Amino acid sequence: MRYLVLTDIHANLEALDACLGDAASHGYDAALVLGDLVGYGPDPNDVVARVQKLAPVAMIRGNHDKVACGLEQPEGFNAVARRAALWTYEMLTPANRDWLAMLSKGPLVVDDVVEICHGSPFDEDAYVFDELDAVRALKTSQRALCLFGHTHYPVTFALTDGRVETIGGPHTLDGPVHVLEGSKYLLNPGAVGQPRDGDSRAAYAIVDTIERRVDLFRLDYPFEKTQAKVIKAGLPEVLAQRLAVGR
Ligand code: ZN
Repeated sequence: MRYLVLTDIHANLEALDACLGDAASHGYDAALVLGDLVGYGPDPNDVVARVQKLAPVAMIRGNHDKVACGLEQPEGFNAVARRAALWTYEMLTPANRDWLAMLSKGPLVVDDVVEICHGSPFDEDAYVFDELDAVRALKTSQRALCLFGHTHYPVTFALTDGRVETIGGPHTLDGPVHVLEGSKYLLNPGAVGQPRDGDSRAAYAIVDTIERRVDLFRLDYPFEKTQAKVIKAGLPEVLAQRLAVGR
């Protein structure tokens, strides 16, 4: 099985379309979506429509989805995220709000090899930044490969014989990650719609469960177009600026 993996799309239609176009050229059987479809970006309804059309075989919600559909209040959000979340709530059609509210909470076991979560397998809202965070997540995960998002930072951690090691980061995207027997992996492909690793390009991954490998991709997309929409929508300007620098 070849899975297209998308996370943290954040209502960025241009970035999503770039990823979908590129992924089609590589080929995949099914899609996995790891949450935060909306929030921050200017096209929440169009992004929901694209994802619905994609019909992912497994999909979970992110913290921004919960607030944008009204399931949760934006407590813990900074001022910019809160303004964007409230804007998104207003913009979403009632049907799309209901649809987002139905998304399941992670973690979700996809098959014999793959599991998905938004933040971590022990808490959907927890952030996994470093090896210390990764240990608990890797010990909780139920499959050899646990895919996560939430930090908008591409990274891979491996647990072998009780030891955690970082085997992939934003600067080691030159080769695939191999899912070796006897090790467990925690992999964040990076954000589709709001990268934060200093690279403005959209990120996604393709997992091949037969070959037990993950290919990581970064793609240029016309972020100037997204920026113009952010400004026109009256969303905080910083949300446009950060797309150019990937921060
Ligand atoms: Zn996010």
